[in-house]
Amino acid sequence: MTEKIINCYDSHTHFWATGQVAEGLRLFDLQKAEDISNLQINKNHYRSQWLVGFGWNHNNWMLPQFPDKHLLDKFFPDTPVFFSRVDGHTSWINSKAIGELTRLGYDFTTNPKGGAIERDAKGEPTGILLDQAHINALLKLPDFSEVQHQLFFETSQKIFNRAGFTHVRDMSMNLNAWQLLCAMEDKKNLTVNIEAFVTVENLADLARVLGEIKQIKSIPSKQMRLLGVKIFIDGSLGSKTAYLSQKYLKSDSQGTLTWPHHEIKELVRQSWQAGVQVAIHCIGDEAVHKAVLAARDVAAEGVLGRLHLEHVQILRPETVLAMKPLHVICHMQPCHWLSDHTWLKQALPASLVSYLFQWELLRKNKIPFYFGSDSPIEPTSLFNNKKALQLSHEWGVPALNADWKIYHTHPDNQWAQHHTEISQDEVKQVFFNGEPLL
Ligand SMILES: [Zn+2]
Repeated sequence: MTEKIINCYDSHTHFWATGQVAEGLRLFDLQKAEDISNLQINKNHYRSQWLVGFGWNHNNWMLPQFPDKHLLDKFFPDTPVFFSRVDGHTSWINSKAIGELTRLGYDFTTNPKGGAIERDAKGEPTGILLDQAHINALLKLPDFSEVQHQLFFETSQKIFNRAGFTHVRDMSMNLNAWQLLCAMEDKKNLTVNIEAFVTVENLADLARVLGEIKQIKSIPSKQMRLLGVKIFIDGSLGSKTAYLSQKYLKSDSQGTLTWPHHEIKELVRQSWQAGVQVAIHCIGDEAVHKAVLAARDVAAEGVLGRLHLEHVQILRPETVLAMKPLHVICHMQPCHWLSDHTWLKQALPASLVSYLFQWELLRKNKIPFYFGSDSPIEPTSLFNNKKALQLSHEWGVPALNADWKIYHTHPDNQWAQHHTEISQDEVKQVFFNGEPLL
């Protein structure tokens, strides 16, 4: 039987990164560090003269320990190399890269706040950068070329269209990306509708982002809508940094809240006053709760706006009740259950396990929510989410008592009329403005 999804929607994506990761040098399949000798390298694996790759995971290697610069130096003596670990929190670089970064002003002599530069017995950098040390180095890398950016957008669009999607919500927009996508739209080459958010790194960064949003909004588009700002207030369950109300099992930590209450409030207030929506990355139950309380404080002052809660993987019933007076939309990724369920019960106290993936609780309380993938973290897929809904129920998550396809349908049916035909867990055809895309 063929089923139809109108305006098929992935509600949490990193649109550019989906294309970049697909075109980029993939290190996921390395069995050992020495396998870098067999990499198939092409021109899209370079950022200017830097060779960049993503996805190595030493925990999967025969010798599960961090690699070092010497091995990279052997195969890449003259090219700066920057290989990011699968978690996006660690990099593996070579001596040429250490030299280049030093030239660009990177300080290898001291560890930055919130990060570490791994050192050998002599105190020399080994070529492993952790957390903030990794981020600071990444920010120093030259940009991709305009041609590469264009290719990544085209590749990403193909990936989403083939997976059935005509609407995506992009969490990582910027002015340059907007201009490139507008150019595709003008040439009638854009086959997705995009809702977009711009990331704010910290409160001091908000004014810059609100200015950028103003500039973006001055460039009109029919297929794209700039909606708001996005912040991260906690980490992830996998790295035990999602902020919980209780400690992780076998750990002294309940995760980290990276924005204090008064700063979340200030960001929400200033954004809403500017007519800009707010999206908050919050995975742990206490992070979600803190986000909702801050928004309620702002609403109580008479400043109103829309609040998007991203991931909300663990959600307490009292938090759902606290959402009710607000204009909240939750964005969930059932596919994360597929990847995480093998260890969730070992990492979380039982009472918090019972609060995982509360789509049914949201539905019962009439809080709007949508499903997405977090691509490229998870592959974009209607059927992975469908499968996760079925299997997670067998595992103990309350079943969603409604048609899953509703949550993959964009809420604004006035925006566009596209539709997707699916049958037996396959996308059969995507109609964009009436024309078949596949
Ligand atoms: Zn995301």
